[in-house]
Amino acid sequence: MTDYTQLTDAQWRERLTPQEYRVLRQAGTEAPFTGEYTDTTTEGIYSCRACGAELFRSTEKFSAHCGWPAFFSPLAGDRVIERTDDSLGMRRTEVLCANCGSHLGHVFAGEGYQTPTDLRYCINSICLTLTEKAPEEDPTDT
Ligand SMILES: [Zn+2]
Repeated sequence: MTDYTQLTDAQWRERLTPQEYRVLRQAGTEAPFTGEYTDTTTEGIYSCRACGAELFRSTEKFSAHCGWPAFFSPLAGDRVIERTDDSLGMRRTEVLCANCGSHLGHVFAGEGYQTPTDLRYCINSICLTLTEKAPEEDPTDT
């Protein structure tokens, strides 16, 4: 099993396209309204494009009209790491994949979206891979 946190920059460059590398490994941001999943409503699981870890579900995706895919919650809290990001002269919260440490996007709170959490996980499409599947029937999932 690959320990993705131990990969070198050279190994990441081999695994990823230049565009993926720039966002996932250099905390870049894709241009708004260009990502392949911005308005996707297909049911399925969004995995980390760098390591394949399952990160988000279509059931928590919502239309934020912000230009990037938006989720109000990750698939599970331990799937992502959130850390303070003071770049660009503002305080934001960066979201990273907990499995491989790759940059995914940012999370914003209290914007007034009509979602259960009022959080907006603003994630670059290029950091995700959607696997289509119907939502699982899980009566214990509240
Ligand atoms: Zn990952």
